[in-house]
Amino acid sequence: MIDELRSTIAGPVLTRSDEGFTDEVAAHNTIAVHTPEVAVGATSEDDVAAAVRVAAKHAVPVRVLATGHGTTPSMAVTDGILITTSRLNDLSIDAETRIAHIGAGCDWAKVVAAAAEHGLHPITGAAASVGTIGYTLGGGLGPLARTYGFSSDWARGFRLVTADGTVVSANADENPDLFWALRGGKGGFGVVTSMDFELVPLTTLYGGSMFFDTEHLAPVLTAWLDWTTTAPESVSTSVAILRLPPMDFIPEPLRGKTTLNLRYAFVGDSAEGERLLQPLRDLAPRLIDAVGEMQAADIAQIHNDPTDPGPGWVRGVMLGGLDDGFAKTLLEVVGPEQQLPLILVELRHLGGATHRDVPEGSAVGGRTAEYSLSIIGVPDPSLFDTALPPLVDGILKQLAPWISAETNINFAGGLELPGSYEASWPAETFSRLAEIRTTYDPNGLFRFP
Ligand SMILES: Cc1cc2nc3c(=O)[nH]c(=O)nc-3n(C[C@H](O)[C@H](O)[C@H](O)COP(=O)(O)OP(=O)(O)OC[C@H]3O[C@@H](n4cnc5c(N)ncnc54)[C@H](O)[C@@H]3O)c2cc1C
Repeated sequence: MIDELRSTIAGPVLTRSDEGFTDEVAAHNTIAVHTPEVAVGATSEDDVAAAVRVAAKHAVPVRVLATGHGTTPSMAVTDGILITTSRLNDLSIDAETRIAHIGAGCDWAKVVAAAAEHGLHPITGAAASVGTIGYTLGGGLGPLARTYGFSSDWARGFRLVTADGTVVSANADENPDLFWALRGGKGGFGVVTSMDFELVPLTTLYGGSMFFDTEHLAPVLTAWLDWTTTAPESVSTSVAILRLPPMDFIPEPLRGKTTLNLRYAFVGDSAEGERLLQPLRDLAPRLIDAVGEMQAADIAQIHNDPTDPGPGWVRGVMLGGLDDGFAKTLLEVVGPEQQLPLILVELRHLGGATHRDVPEGSAVGGRTAEYSLSIIGVPDPSLFDTALPPLVDGILKQLAPWISAETNINFAGGLELPGSYEASWPAETFSRLAEIRTTYDPNGLFRFP
């Protein structure tokens, strides 16, 4: 099989003992160490198709690695072919139609920068280093979610290699069932080689991040929750309880403390954005206040997610409507009085455009949620299988009255847990995804639980 791959594929074909293998399969989440039988560094759609045909002939499983942001320990690949997409990084923008043609290896940073040259902006997630395709296949909820919805709502078409090694287009006119599935249904349908994505005309925002000290955390969080109940959909916000270590690279006012980070993004006139924010600003003095008019291209500065690879452990759920009882319980279980090995507990306000599906319909999970809740453990791998799971299980048990039955695959984390995939879509959507998958990949070549 290896010789066959090497004779048909222009890019590197590497086995475990080959030089360059470790770098080829390295993931952003360093906790997952991939050791597939062979890594194929695709340089073109033809390379992807050839690799899939060889895999199908030998009945060897195929998986895809872009940036490795989505990787959890349980997702470490130990067999078959791992196709890496980083070299499929062509990007072109048609400013007239506002469509970006995005190669599967592009991350959001590249698309954001190129779109900005035309006064345009892609609806992205919080972190610029996340891969465009893996993210959009899961739906994608970012800092502008309430105004513009899920990122997958802006996907206008995909090209992908299906299990028989053919290249197909999936859009509103061609293979619409597959198009429906790829907008939120995540994995198991094929290897996406490129995506057409509609950009929005947007150059500036009123947005950024502010931080409140420990003693103000509880009142600000409670008041923010109340504020969200009347917030218009032109504004998307989130809060995060941060427990940052006492290390030099952390800004001094936040070092070694439990603080509340409020993230704010308003689309429209800056004066109106400032006016809407004022009641939150008035709640308490800010340790840092970096909210103001900003370039849309700097959107990653709203969440300031880490950009360097490292070990990560996350668990997430979606929430329905929240009340004072939720705030009280949340603060009891993860508030500043608790000593917890959690670096972040984040609530994002959803609704507005996230509640409205695209006219053709799409597979995305979590469409009805009002908020998301994400919990990230300290980046100490010795806790990932020991202290963190029971701790977070206990926290989620306390919050159970507010947790929705359905989550979203990009937010779920804990994908090793039984039922986690089923819970990432409404039951009907899950069944339809399974049917479509059977149609396009009857032998389960593309491994996706
Ligand atoms: C720091 C950080 C911030 C994040 N912020 C957000 C956020 O704001 N909003 C949000 O919705 N999510 C967010 N996520 C979650 C992220 O969207 C998912 O983890 C996503 O799967 C990452 O995709 P990737 O391609 O970068 O990662 P990878 O781990 O390389 O890919 C993940 C999966 O995507 C699929 N995939 C990737 N490329 C292809 C392809 N070409 N063809 C077929 N399948 C493919 C595969 O199933 C693969 O296993 C964040 C994650 C991290 C670590």
